[in-house]
Amino acid sequence: MYYTKILVSVTEICTVGCRHCGFIGSVRERQPAEEEIADWVTQACDFGIPNIIFTGGEPFQRFSLLKAGVNAAARHPAKPGIGCFTSSFWGKNRATVDKFLDQLPGMTHFYLSTDVFHQEKVPASYVRNVIDGALARGIPHLSLCITIAEDAEEQQIRSLYEDYGDRLMIAVERVISSPHIAPVAQTSHPPEPEHYASHCFLHTPIVNPNGDLAACHAAKVGAHHPDEKDVYFLGNLKRKSFAQIMAEADENHSYQFLRAFGPQGLARMITETPELKTRWGGTTFSNGCDMCARVLLTKKGRQALADYAGDDFQQLLTEAVRARRFGEVRS
Ligand code: SF4
Repeated sequence: MYYTKILVSVTEICTVGCRHCGFIGSVRERQPAEEEIADWVTQACDFGIPNIIFTGGEPFQRFSLLKAGVNAAARHPAKPGIGCFTSSFWGKNRATVDKFLDQLPGMTHFYLSTDVFHQEKVPASYVRNVIDGALARGIPHLSLCITIAEDAEEQQIRSLYEDYGDRLMIAVERVISSPHIAPVAQTSHPPEPEHYASHCFLHTPIVNPNGDLAACHAAKVGAHHPDEKDVYFLGNLKRKSFAQIMAEADENHSYQFLRAFGPQGLARMITETPELKTRWGGTTFSNGCDMCARVLLTKKGRQALADYAGDDFQQLLTEAVRARRFGEVRS
């Protein structure tokens, strides 16, 4: 199965308000019914996705929805891994942590966002309380998710948790520039293929709280744009089943091109498309997702990708990569 995980966003509400967050400035506060979350999780498990990861917004700010989703995953016969992203804002003390965790049986992974941006709002002691509560319950996987603007920030954050040793996994990502975060000059690159990877986060689609199934989380799908026009929009679970949407995505040339070639392919498209090169060639991007979102969330970028990926030769290349890397041979 190409899809290793799916993110399920239980709410777009988060009052923590970190300044690097893609939801800053969004007016959306959508959230599903408990039955809907349970149904969408069940459909993703039926499809064979082996890990369900809850996210937001801040999932612990709508705890009944989080519980409904976790319970649906825990009940499913496929026994998926069950993870959750959180800022740990609810980790004020161990008693509070225990109260929440006792209601989430079956959790296998916490992804704890902690970096200079989160620490302006949530102290490391709260994160440590959540870590301690999770360790006490034998939750096997704990990841610190550190978003950095400057290299030095990584060690600054790591040092706060060093005593946990290898009980914590650590994931470090570059911040995506936004109206609140300027691109970091020394780590930014122009849109040229050699600077970008041929794979990205498309093996982890996301369900947004209104039922939109989107290709990836990294473009902050749903926060600021009319989803149905986004290149990242695959379909809506209130209108079609999970399996139907994925069958249609199989025929979506833009999406399949991104799966096959990632941001490296996108940079290639920019260098080979004079109109895009003129507009974006002089810009630098903090990482592949930064480039991808800033180019493809424009009408011109989206149309250019549709034209480029729809070309017969590009389709042949895409199919060849899908066959070789993903074992997906189409009839
Ligand atoms: S490179 Fe684009 S398609 Fe891939 S994960 Fe990032 S934003 Fe999504």
